[in-house]
Amino acid sequence: MPLFLGYYNLLYFIFGLPALLLALYAQYKVHSSYNKYSRIPNARRITGYDAARYLLAAGGLGGVGIEGTPGVLTDHYDPRSKILRLSAGVANSGSVAALGIVAHEVGHAAQDATDYVGLRLRAGLVPILTFGSWLGPILFFVGYLLDQFNLALIGVGFFALAAVFALVTLPVELNASRRALEALRTTGLVTSTAEEQGVRSVLSAAALTYVAAVAQAVMSLLYYVFLLSGMRRRD
Ligand SMILES: [Zn+2]
Repeated sequence: MPLFLGYYNLLYFIFGLPALLLALYAQYKVHSSYNKYSRIPNARRITGYDAARYLLAAGGLGGVGIEGTPGVLTDHYDPRSKILRLSAGVANSGSVAALGIVAHEVGHAAQDATDYVGLRLRAGLVPILTFGSWLGPILFFVGYLLDQFNLALIGVGFFALAAVFALVTLPVELNASRRALEALRTTGLVTSTAEEQGVRSVLSAAALTYVAAVAQAVMSLLYYVFLLSGMRRRD
């Protein structure tokens, strides 16, 4: 964030701290539950890659491709190319964690196939936010420094869109995880309550990061709205 005065630094800190702490906690939960359940083999000893193939076929999503992607926990479904991208640590692992992660991403593929409205809305916001995430702060601070209320307001508009994006993302993610658990149960890939608990633990840690993202986006928006309201008073 471009910050130019100590006072605003402090203010930003006060606005941002609770959400930041939540985000750090969520990151910690994601890594600790992944570390734990990536070491516990699933009962069927099925790899992430094979589980993905199996779940896609079971869900009538045979047209979805599977590719590798570099990094750790970088697994995602790309709705534009209809491809499931799996990290090596998940694709080659026969762990409980791999089952949960793969099933979640297949959940996104299922959302895509059923034209799930949240996924569409989210995809529609991406191009606006891609330039809005750098244009928003610039417009705001230029407007703020030059005392141009309307310019600053447009900047705040982009922060509002970022908050909407985070808010739309949350139910999409929760829905993908709900589909994941259901699919793992109905296909019999998850065989026991203990395994299901492990999958749940991995998925709810991931969900918490999206809750934290909402908190961060909303607090950030409130901070800029607060600065904006100060401009009005000066007029
Ligand atoms: Zn997801």
